[in-house]
Amino acid sequence: MDKLHNLGVAELAALLKYKEVSAVEVATRFLARLGGNPHNAFLDINSEVTLAQARESDAKLAAGTAGPLEGVPIAHKDVFVTKDLATTAGSRMLSGYRSPFDATVVARLRQAGMVTLGKLNCDEFAMGSANENSAYGAVSNPWNTAHVPGGSSGGSAAAVAARLTPAATGTDTGGSIRQPAAFCGITGIKPTYGRASRYGMVAYASSLDQAGPMARSAEDCALLLSAMCGPDLDRDSTSLDVATEDFSRDLSRPLARAGKDGGALKIGVPSSWLAIEQGFPSGNVDGCSPKVRDAIKDALHRLEVEGAEVIPIELRNTGLAIPVYYIVACAEASSNLSRFDGVKFGHRAADFADLTDMYKKTRAQGFGQEVKRRIMTGSYVLSHGYYDAYYLQAQKIRRMIADDFQGAFAQCDVIAGPVAPTTAWKLGDKADDPVASYLADIFTLPASLAGLPCMSLPVGLGEGGMPVGLQLIGNYLQEAKLLNVAHQYQLKIKHHEQQPGAAA
Ligand code: GLN
Repeated sequence: MDKLHNLGVAELAALLKYKEVSAVEVATRFLARLGGNPHNAFLDINSEVTLAQARESDAKLAAGTAGPLEGVPIAHKDVFVTKDLATTAGSRMLSGYRSPFDATVVARLRQAGMVTLGKLNCDEFAMGSANENSAYGAVSNPWNTAHVPGGSSGGSAAAVAARLTPAATGTDTGGSIRQPAAFCGITGIKPTYGRASRYGMVAYASSLDQAGPMARSAEDCALLLSAMCGPDLDRDSTSLDVATEDFSRDLSRPLARAGKDGGALKIGVPSSWLAIEQGFPSGNVDGCSPKVRDAIKDALHRLEVEGAEVIPIELRNTGLAIPVYYIVACAEASSNLSRFDGVKFGHRAADFADLTDMYKKTRAQGFGQEVKRRIMTGSYVLSHGYYDAYYLQAQKIRRMIADDFQGAFAQCDVIAGPVAPTTAWKLGDKADDPVASYLADIFTLPASLAGLPCMSLPVGLGEGGMPVGLQLIGNYLQEAKLLNVAHQYQLKIKHHEQQPGAAA
């Protein structure tokens, strides 16, 4: 059992169920690995809280009342509020903040038996692509500590990759589960918008924010997603009224029979992302690095070998996803973040002359650069005279992007492509150039704008020996199909089991 920390969610759940190991032993092992906070991945750890939950799990395992994931550890991105641990959303504004309740996702995972290891570093209010916008310092990538882990769920991805936790929660507004998963060589899925409750998730852009699991394999993600999702109609007005599902149910379906009509699964590859000929990728991904392109082409080929058919599709308006997303997301952020005024909760400036001065000083001190930039951008695009030109126009194009996907899904079962144009860049490389990091979101934003389920799975190494992620996008509520495709790949090709050297 000296390699307990190398086991995934499914393996640990089985060992715990058959009492080969206790929840306290598992928790103790992982807590021991968190000493010194490797990669600066964690923002709050409380071993007493963790061990108390583990003891509760052991009691349930002994009494035969255990949940499906009883005793398996998980850590939460610091945008999920927790009553027993601090929640900062990576911001000075919420330094030391303690919520009176647990987010629905946190509560559901606990109900399934999972033991909370701690809270994970992230970009401030989930705004960023490199985790360098955290007020509590950057996170390093376990594959090479000179590189970023991706963002905004960078702490989640680094912690899973470095075997500090078998699983983590993340949130994805425009790629924040998929991109860090890709950069750190792990698997992550963002479900259909509305599947997972946003109750207790610190809001960034409410029409886009969605929670999802990050773990090593598609099989583990399926177990976690089944526990996280489900209607929460009284507490989240955009929660979908769709029954909780077993997302593991289709994992073993052969791709030769996973298509709509029981035939071969059809994988559509947007020709603007990767040109393909006669079912086999041969062209260039626009703006993709050569090794990322090669890894994606190789992964598509492997899926063909497994019985899938690869066809070209058109997504005509996805090139506009960057301006549309950064208008919509900033607009919603400027509204959501108005609640941090120094009155209700969080930071309040120590000295001020009057109420207006208190607002100004509190917000000037509490928010970081990138958050301020987005609040200003958002206020601008919503202001009288610019609303029609920017915000309304962006909403129209958002609809066109969503319609493009529906056109594509008439021809294919899932869409595949890269997650990001490059592998993880060096810490500091884009830190002074916000637009450069916005541009790196080109492949993740379209599915977010459309509210579609999408995931990333590791498919090899690219430039600098850093991991490359393949993105899979499904139609609404088709998470099980995405996980099916990813699992069939992972049954044969074991990139998800590769370990970063820096974590050894
Ligand atoms: N990188 C994107 C942004 O900065 C996406 C972040 C996210 O998904 N939370 O907004």
